Amino acid sequence: MVSLYSRIFTLTTALETVLEKIAAAEKAAGRPPSSVRLVAVSKTHDADVITPVLQAGQRRFGENRVQEAAAKWPALKDRFPDTELHLIGPLQSNKARQAVRLFDVIETLDRPKLARTLARLFEEEGIRRDLFIQINTGEEAQKAGIAPREADDFIAFCKEELNLPVVGLMCIPPADEDPAPHFALLKKIAARHGLKELSMGMSNDYETAIALGATHVRLGTAIFGQRFRVNCE
Ligand SMILES: *Cc1c(COP(=O)(O)O)cnc(C)c1O
Repeated sequence: MVSLYSRIFTLTTALETVLEKIAAAEKAAGRPPSSVRLVAVSKTHDADVITPVLQAGQRRFGENRVQEAAAKWPALKDRFPDTELHLIGPLQSNKARQAVRLFDVIETLDRPKLARTLARLFEEEGIRRDLFIQINTGEEAQKAGIAPREADDFIAFCKEELNLPVVGLMCIPPADEDPAPHFALLKKIAARHGLKELSMGMSNDYETAIALGATHVRLGTAIFGQRFRVNCE
């Protein structure tokens, strides 16, 4: 049984280490301090594990399941109201209303139907949420996201036809490939559309992502340690 204090110590030390590495990677890339935002990926972890990270000052978190986030985050947000919650997993249309209410940022806009649904819900709910479009840079059949060759049309459709608040692009490179070309491709597509935000880089490859222009890195394992539960929607 690990004591509560050693657990809190481990979490806050991991957070500090990650923040130092992000700062070093920014500097190495000649980028201004704090130009990269950390999204702490708290999926599968309970509120008692997330709380010390909030207490240490981290305010941006990512979850990949609407249901799981709905069970944990309303109470945490009551205690830490300036928290910014990002949805980083696939969003089913029938959970979109709940997601629009709960999440501050949706990083996984990946199809025309969802784009239309979000446009209608923003209208009905009287709120707008910053959106990232997920690009399937590796064109993997099992992965969500817009294929690179369809990205230009889809981005234009979301921005111009639906007037959605698209702020950037997000990708999850294939697990078994060098991520660098995928990060570079994401940046290139974003640049064509004047999109400033790039959500790319996870625990294994965030320093590479920062060198290639990431503005948001999504780190789970590097902060919270190994996940012992799997969660898939
Ligand atoms: C789980 C997850 C992460 C975090 O992965 P780690 O390797 O634990 O840092 C980042 N992005 C997405 C979309 C995820 O599902």
